[in-house]
Amino acid sequence: MFLEIKELELHPIDFKEEFQPGTIDLGEDVRQRTPLATDGRAELVEEHHGMHLVIQDIRLRGKLATRLELSCARCLDAVTQDVKRQFELLYRPLGTDAGKDELSVTDAEAEIGYYRGEGLLLEDVLREQVLLAVPLKIICRDDCKGLCPHCGKNLNLEQCSCATPHEDPRWEALKEIRSKLEH
Ligand SMILES: [Zn+2]
Ligand SMILES: [Zn+2]
Repeated sequence: MFLEIKELELHPIDFKEEFQPGTIDLGEDVRQRTPLATDGRAELVEEHHGMHLVIQDIRLRGKLATRLELSCARCLDAVTQDVKRQFELLYRPLGTDAGKDELSVTDAEAEIGYYRGEGLLLEDVLREQVLLAVPLKIICRDDCKGLCPHCGKNLNLEQCSCATPHEDPRWEALKEIRSKLEH
């Protein structure tokens, strides 16, 4: 859904949409399991700079909800994650260089992005918002044992035979002290 400046000049745009999995490209690591529901409002905010320069910002308020599938950072198994997020965003024309301090108080609290050309694609906004809501690292359960670094077996499911017994680090420390005393 394209939020066009020309239309926003006439009136705010209220949106209520559902995006099926696959419509929004979330990259390879994030899979969308249910339709992404979103609703909100886009409106034009005009910044007046001096007598003649008017900068047209797009203010976007709304919320989204969907269910994602991610991979456990240790064992790569699928982990389901529900995402619900509210957003309040301000998009300025790309290349506008005024800083945050020049914006009104309410807008200064919004997240700021940039749009290029005639307007803003809602799908692009949603992609960014979904990815922001995704944790950097997710694990399937607290005690996930992960994959064996040697043979790649999922150690939650089976014990492999290549597990090398490693020395207790406390012994390492003692050995170090002893070697220092001996020299
Ligand atoms: Zn795991
Ligand atoms: Zn192994």
